[in-house]
Amino acid sequence: MINRKQIIDLLHFRSGSHQVLSFYMGIGVYKAQRKAYEIEAKDIMKKAVAEAGLSGEEREHVEEDVHRIQNFLTMDFKGRAKGLAIFASKPAGLWQVFRLPVTVPDRCVVDQMPFVLPVLKIVDEGRRYCVVIADKEKARLFTVYLGEILEREDILDDVPGWHKQGGLAQARFQRHIEDHVNRHLKHVADTMFGFYKAEGFGHVIIGGSQEVRTRLNRVLHSYLQSIVAGYISADVTSNINDITDAARKIEQETEERKAKEIAERLLARSGRGDMTVTGLKNTVAALQEGRVHTLVLVDNFEIGGCLCGDCGSVEVMGSKDCAYCKKKLSKIGDVSEHLAVLAVEHDAEVKYVQPKSGLEEVDGVGAILRW
Ligand SMILES: [Zn+2]
Repeated sequence: MINRKQIIDLLHFRSGSHQVLSFYMGIGVYKAQRKAYEIEAKDIMKKAVAEAGLSGEEREHVEEDVHRIQNFLTMDFKGRAKGLAIFASKPAGLWQVFRLPVTVPDRCVVDQMPFVLPVLKIVDEGRRYCVVIADKEKARLFTVYLGEILEREDILDDVPGWHKQGGLAQARFQRHIEDHVNRHLKHVADTMFGFYKAEGFGHVIIGGSQEVRTRLNRVLHSYLQSIVAGYISADVTSNINDITDAARKIEQETEERKAKEIAERLLARSGRGDMTVTGLKNTVAALQEGRVHTLVLVDNFEIGGCLCGDCGSVEVMGSKDCAYCKKKLSKIGDVSEHLAVLAVEHDAEVKYVQPKSGLEEVDGVGAILRW
């Protein structure tokens, strides 16, 4: 899996004017049928190389990279991922393969820098979920990220069992057991917080009996309490598929709600101090000033505009010169990818919301600001 840091490193990769081949393939679409995706891979790479209009040594180098990718697909890959991203440039010493947990549109780009947008779109750390399923002596911790569930940790604490005793002795023993249960749940909560500090996640999902959920929630770190997305009725013996289904349902509802809230916040225009901007011009200005915390784009929505080939800045349609470096601009049918790259370069997050969110009326772009 690819993380944000690796994407930023790719964005800063300098090929020394050599060509870089960026190759994406949605393996899931082919249901991992090797012949099918190998043929498709060959076609899209061939097309991309032809379109790049290269000649001589440059073309030879790119063709070597094409061969290397084909060999990788045939020999090493074996279809074990839903998606694939490969960045290759032999003369620049670049070869990076990322197996992705989600499918991506098939695409091949030959350019002097890695084309990272498709992976940028899927890396959204806020979409990492921590799922904890607990009872009074055991717990299982999972992470769910982009539909992939991983079991991360099992916790088993020694909680004494019941003895058949009566009267006072039993009452005392009951308190003794409850102490152990509390310590166990505190152990689970501490493990989750340690996990949060080490890896980060955007949301928590808690599973278990009503009683355990309530008691665990009570001892959770207050920040983790604030990011509980929902509860599921799975228990520690549940089958992983049932846990995944239940967690995914909450993930989907949460993501839809978040996207809706973001779009509403951007469109509310509550006036001064609302820390948002909308529209291409305002958003680019805020990006260039380093004020953007989260750039918000509509998924699969094209934003016409002008691009500065020199500094990578974006301007509204009809602009002539770059406001930042005064170079001449070129007209582009869709600048949304360039905006996303600009955002990552300015250390902002990128969030995609579903179409028909209302953002289309303000050029399909806006941002939540840091200041
Ligand atoms: Zn410029």
